[in-house]
Order: sequence, then structure tokens, then C-alpha cells
Amino acid sequence: MSNIRFKALELAISRSRRSVDTTSRKVSEYFGELTFNRSVMREFLPQLAYDQLLSTIGTGKKIDRQLADQVASALKEWAILKGASHYTHWFHPLTGATAEKHDSFLMPTAEGKAIENFSGNELIQQEPDASSFPSGGIRNTFEARGYTAWDPTSTAFIVDDTLCIPTIFVSYTGEALDYKTPMLKILHALDREATAVCNYFDPAITKVVATLGWEQEYFLVDTALFHARPDMALTGRTLFGHASAKDQQLSDHYFGTIPERVMDFMKEFEYEAHRLGIPVKTRHNEVAPSQFECAPVYEEANMAVDHNQLLMHILEKVAKRHNLTVLLHEKPYQGINGSGKHNNWSLLNNTGSNLLSPGKTPESNLQFLTFLVNIIKAVSKHADLLRSSIASASNDLRLGANEAPPAIISVFIGSQLTAVLDEIERAEGVHRKKTNLNDKVSLDIPKIPEILLDNTDRNRTSPFAFTGNKFEFRAVGSSESCAKPMIALNLIVAEQLKQFRMDVDALISKGILKEDAIYQVIRLYIKESRDIRFEGNSYSDEWTEEAAKRGLSNIGSTPEAMKVTILPESIRLFDEHSILTERELMARFDINLENYLKKVQIESRVIGDLSINHIIPTAIRYQNALIDNVKGLKEVLDVKTFVKLSNNQMQNIKEISEHISIIRTLVYEMVECRRLANKIENIEEKAVEYNKVVLPYFEKIRYHVDKLELLVDDELWPLPKYRELLFIR
Ligand code: ADP
Ligand code: MG
Repeated sequence: MSNIRFKALELAISRSRRSVDTTSRKVSEYFGELTFNRSVMREFLPQLAYDQLLSTIGTGKKIDRQLADQVASALKEWAILKGASHYTHWFHPLTGATAEKHDSFLMPTAEGKAIENFSGNELIQQEPDASSFPSGGIRNTFEARGYTAWDPTSTAFIVDDTLCIPTIFVSYTGEALDYKTPMLKILHALDREATAVCNYFDPAITKVVATLGWEQEYFLVDTALFHARPDMALTGRTLFGHASAKDQQLSDHYFGTIPERVMDFMKEFEYEAHRLGIPVKTRHNEVAPSQFECAPVYEEANMAVDHNQLLMHILEKVAKRHNLTVLLHEKPYQGINGSGKHNNWSLLNNTGSNLLSPGKTPESNLQFLTFLVNIIKAVSKHADLLRSSIASASNDLRLGANEAPPAIISVFIGSQLTAVLDEIERAEGVHRKKTNLNDKVSLDIPKIPEILLDNTDRNRTSPFAFTGNKFEFRAVGSSESCAKPMIALNLIVAEQLKQFRMDVDALISKGILKEDAIYQVIRLYIKESRDIRFEGNSYSDEWTEEAAKRGLSNIGSTPEAMKVTILPESIRLFDEHSILTERELMARFDINLENYLKKVQIESRVIGDLSINHIIPTAIRYQNALIDNVKGLKEVLDVKTFVKLSNNQMQNIKEISEHISIIRTLVYEMVECRRLANKIENIEEKAVEYNKVVLPYFEKIRYHVDKLELLVDDELWPLPKYRELLFIR
């Protein structure tokens, strides 16, 4: 049979199981064995150099030349022992992927031989030919060159035969061309602001880091089926496809038994992740068929972002060995759940205390409330910026769908904390009470239960939820780097903490006691940020109405979301904390919009191609078969029986003709709209045109194609169907 769908199905069904040769070793024996971690550093570096390196990492100071040479030499020695022959600066350009250019350690000698060489200079800085990476025009007007510079706060690692050194990527004039540069800057700014606030409570605190634990959702599909669908192969999602009779309605996949073939894949990618020091810990089935999730133990945010980037790469690589393809797209299939990447986020001080864990004493609880309320206030003030940080063509398809977090940003804190905040808000003034112990006067703040983790009634519909000792930003898309949302979140919190200190200090300077001042400001913030808090079902229509009444934004599309990033207030914010300049923001704005419209453009082309060259010819073939059938009936039947029996067939032929004709008309209209959109010079207007004019055709065309799928003979249908894609054999 020439039908590619059947060939792919045959392949998919006949896959033999791969026996997985992970290892018989315990995870404790191989965890991190491909990383230049602290214990390796201690082994390969002289003690003094090791101490210097750790202190530089801790303080963010510049690394001097001598130390760089020592580290480079240790790295080289270690990497060669591990079988590496090459090294690369590993960075995150604005494509959203990671980039690398491999250089060998090889250095020829005068004697015609060669040695392995790797100097401090090569470790610290490289100048990759960067002209093909998106720069949003930054490099066109200034310098063509860019350079990468070592980030010692992220661990170097080995993939295959290559030592990978995490780096930032900037233009020669110093503008950031990546996500890591602003990420490191905001972590630094946040440290400063959060430490200052901590010092109200404990002057000994010297450092605060952001922590991130991501949960990565993804789909798996057999590779043969994937390649039999041009839409999946080219866009990462299905642009057509009628719903399967059974998909997720029985809720029988979530947390169900993991299919054996998938399990083999998981064991193998976990093994690889562990060797690379990525602490993946959790695996389970997700809601939709063939949808899965993995999550690590949380880490310092910069490291966690790098690890997520690396993990996405490992997932794709290992899946191939099992003839599976990973779909990181946010919405691979219509009508069933999409994929997200929950960003669990918190703040940790240098004594190891989580600032979002309620404490045991009223004083420590005041600190907890300070951070909690400031974060809520930050989100209430800058919800749009948070929304814009997760905007992409693919996430647009997921946000607001009724199983995904809505595009309206709100904060959920749970009933216990709501009661506490309500009580503080109601309280007339500050209460103090004498503790019986030593007659010390202390603040009387509402009691906060030490354990807030109430797993049972946790609200799963909130885009930004407090979950016991951390916030969980759930609206992040599965395919995106965590860097964008992490930059936005940490930025708005840093800004808010700064504002908080100004407000508290203003009261203190009026002679108000510190604790009272803090309490008063918190109380004010609780009132001011009341509207962003929502405890109900965020998927409901009532919430959309209610949110509109409260004046909360509901930004539905990427072009709209991008506008927020270049508003004067956003520019001020990024500038004030020295994260990105106006120029850099404008560049990112352009890149994101360009990326958006190109994605829509590609999808539109694929829809046109599939419709005209695959779907319509197939439908016509089946229609001809029906017509032949009717003609045949006419020959063999008497007129009366023929009229009676052919009625249905005629109806079928008519229906198919109508769908064909509508599809053809809509495709031609869409192509014309695309042609007009392409003439628009202004990138913003062009993106809006693609969003408002071209995109709406997708649904309209799909409706008729999916109807044809139901009408046409299964044997003729060229594209693997949902029921075939969704269940791994
Ligand atoms: P779920 O949300 O699916 O119930 P968990 O709450 O157990 O899962 O944890 C999800 C993620 O949150 C994990 O990656 C975990 O490491 C992370 N996490 C837990 N505590 C923190 C924290 N203090 N900071 C950041 N992430 C955290
Ligand atoms: Mg979660």
C-alpha cells in the first residue's frame, strides 16, 4: 500500500523493545560524573585556587587571569580523563535554543606532533561568528562581532566528546544577545534588594538567592507517525485532526502505569540527566494520553534554567534512540490538554532558610508575611509584564483554553493565608502583646500554621499559586526557556522590595518603630493588591467577567503582550535595575514579534499545502469512488429502487463537494491575506495582521478538513489520525 500513514503505522506497531543498558550502578555512584562540580574542582585545583574560585562565584567578582589559567588547566585535565577532545562555549541566544561551536584541544607543536591545549583566555572569552543569531538589529548598526564569556556560577559539563562551558553572549558593544546575561543581572539585583529587606529582621544575612524547580511536561509520539504528518514535522503540532473517540475523557492516563516503551526511554534519559548533574526526581503520566512530566529537585535559579535547557536537549536526543519523538510544543493536539512548564520559585537566604516558609515565632512570621505580601503586590502591579514573559505563538494556543491557566494573571494563596491577610487588613492598628517569658513586648500578628501544604484543596487552575513554601508560576509554556519568566518575576519582586524599603524607611524616619512600620506598610499593600487575589476557578467564564470588573488585564495574544515590554514603565524598570537597556528591550521586542509572525506564517503555509495537495485530492478520490458506485447502482437497479437507495450516497457526495469547495476558497483567501500581510514593513503591524487576519483562517479550514476525515474512507486518509498518534504501542 502506498499510503504513508499505513506504512508508518506498521512500523510503529512492529517496534521491538530496546533493552535499556542504563547501568547497574546506583545513582549516588554516577550522579554528576560528567560535571566539573565542587568535588572535582577540589581534586583538580590547588587549594588556594579552589578557595579563590568559590569566593569569586559567591561574590560575583571578576576572575583574574592567573586563576582563569589554573581553572582552564584543571578543566582540560579532567575533561580529557573523561574522554573529551573538544570544548565549546555553550550559550542561549535569543532563538530560545542553545548554541555551541566546538573547538578541539589540539595544538600542533614545532616537532610535527600535537598537544592538548586550553588556556584561561579560551575559557573566559570567545568570539563566535555570531552574525546568524537574532540580534534585533543591534549588530547591524554597531559591530558585527559578538562574544561569549564564561559564567562560573553554572557548572561546566561534558556531552559526548565535548566539554561545555556555560557562557553569556553579548555584542561587542556590550548589549546582551542572550537570556543568561539579564538573568545573571537580575539575580544580582534581587540578592541586593532581598538581602536589604532581610536585614530588617536579621542584620547578619548577607545573601539571598532565587530558587527554581521546574516541572517539564511533554508528549511522546512514535517517530514514524510523526514524520508521516508534515504539520507535526514542520511546526511541532497537528494543524488538522478530528478528535479520537477516546482520549482523556476517562481520566485514565494521569498518574497511570507508564507504558513499557516509554519507561525504557525515561530510565535512559534520567540516567543521562543524572550523569550531567540534573537532579530529576519525579516522573509520571500527565492528563492527556502520551503526555508525561518530569521534575527535578529545585536549584539556584541560574543553574536550574541551564539544566532545563540541557534536559530538553537530552529528552529529544534519547527519545530518538527509542524511535520516539518528544513534542515540547504547548498544544500539539487540539481538544486535549496542552503542556506547560510550572516554575516553582522561592527565595533562600545564606543561612539556608526559605523566605517563603512560615516561621515559628511572630517575628519570623512577620518576615514571611513581608515577602509574601510584597510578591503579591509585585504581581498586582506588574501582572502584564509577567504575562508578556510567557507569550509565544505556541503558548497562545494553550493559555485561556479551558484546561490551561488563563491569560488573566491572578494570585492564589489558599484559605489559611487569605484568612491571615484578611485579619491583618481588618485590624485597626498594630497590636503588641507581652510574652509571658521575659515580659518582652512583641508584635501580635495573626497566627500562621507552620505547615501550609494542603495538597487536597490546592487550586490547580491558578496561573500563579502559593503552594506551601513557594510560588508556582504555571502559565509558562513547555517549550520556552525558564529564563524569560524568571527574569520578569525576579525583576518585579526586586523592584517591589526596593519600594517596600523606601516606604518602611519613610515611616521609620518619622519615628515609628521598625516592626510597626513594616506592619503598616504590609497592611497597606494587602489592601492595594486585593484585586489580584483570586481563590476560585480560574477556568470559569465567571472569572473572566469578574476579572474584567476588577480591571485586570486579559491579554490574549503575543503581539498584544509584547507591547507591554516596551511601555515606558517597563523600560524604566529594566533600566533602573540595570537588567536591559531600552535598546536591548526594543531588540527583543522585534525578535519576539518576528518569531511570532514567522511561526504563524509557516503554519499557514503548511495548512495550505496539506489542504490543497493532500486533503482535497484524497477527498476527490473518494468522491470519485462514490460517483462510480452510484453509476454502477444505476446500471444494476430498477429506477425506483435506485432512487431510494442512492439518496444517501448522493448526499455524501454533495457534502464532500461542499467541504472541498469551502476549503479551497478559504485557503485561497488565506494566501491572499498572507500576501498582503507580507507587504507590511512595520514588524509590529505585520505581527498584528498575522494574528488578527491570517490566524483566524486556521480554525475555519480545520473545521472542514476534520469533517472530511470523518467522511472519507479510512484507507485513503493520508495523515495518521489522533487515535493512532495518541496511544503509544
Ligand atoms: P507538584 O507541584 O506537582 O505537587 P511539588 O510541589 O512536589 O510538585 O514540587 C514541584 C517542584 O517544586 C519540584 O521541582 C520541587 O523541587 C520544587 N520546589 C520545592 N520547594 C521549592 C523551593 N523552595 N523553591 C523552588 N522550588 C521548589
Ligand atoms: Mg506543580
